[in-house]
Amino acid sequence: MVEIKTDAALEAMRAAGRVVAHALAAAEKAAGVGVSLRELDEAARAVLDAAGATSPFLGYHPSFAPTPFPAVICASVNDAVVHGIPDGYRLRDGDLVSIDCGAVVDGWAGDAAVSFVVGTPAPADLELIEATRRALEAGIAAAVVGNRVGDISHAIGAVARAARCGMPSDLGGHGIGRRMHEEPHVPNRGRPRRGFPLRHGLVLAIEPMLMAGGRDDYRTASDGWTLRTADGSRAAHIEHTVAITEDGPRILTLP
Ligand code: MG
Ligand code: MG
Repeated sequence: MVEIKTDAALEAMRAAGRVVAHALAAAEKAAGVGVSLRELDEAARAVLDAAGATSPFLGYHPSFAPTPFPAVICASVNDAVVHGIPDGYRLRDGDLVSIDCGAVVDGWAGDAAVSFVVGTPAPADLELIEATRRALEAGIAAAVVGNRVGDISHAIGAVARAARCGMPSDLGGHGIGRRMHEEPHVPNRGRPRRGFPLRHGLVLAIEPMLMAGGRDDYRTASDGWTLRTADGSRAAHIEHTVAITEDGPRILTLP
């Protein structure tokens, strides 16, 4: 069932989104050559703790996973697309890092992700991140009253296609509210004018994942969580939680 939020709920979700933004900023600020992924998790965790927020990631145990998720962020490096576990891996010069983080404040969830390069960036990685950012921007621009979910999907897919990037075919965004994952599913490609109608008070996590190799397939790593590109090419993932309102899309996961 799709839950349409009241304006008071949107305000509460904005508070959760702000915590997510600050946690992501802290993790990105902590990142550097030689820094472990676990240290990025600790930086994000400190922000959640200080805000009195809980993590919807920590202990999350969907049916596909062999173990509960052990951290408050996903840290996905280079060919990892999403769901990377922040372990003892130490970042190297030129690594492309995607950090995904959620927070729950007063019972409402926020969910966002950033991608960036540690140290000296390869031009191709900056292009991949920029294309992912443009795909998210196009998806958000289509998140307006009167459109449908398919319009968001179509906008994201068009940018990815123009950039000759692949996207995991069955992964995408989602409704969000009292739980991190709610209906409807928001595919990263689709046909315009199809799918759930967008109304004031609908809140969606929009999250393009672009793979530089141009293929849409991926594989699950041996940890049972991390999803990696099938061809070993690099991936980027950027996400915002966005409320559809009569005044246009409102990004809830800004600082
Ligand atoms: Mg996320
Ligand atoms: Mg999400």
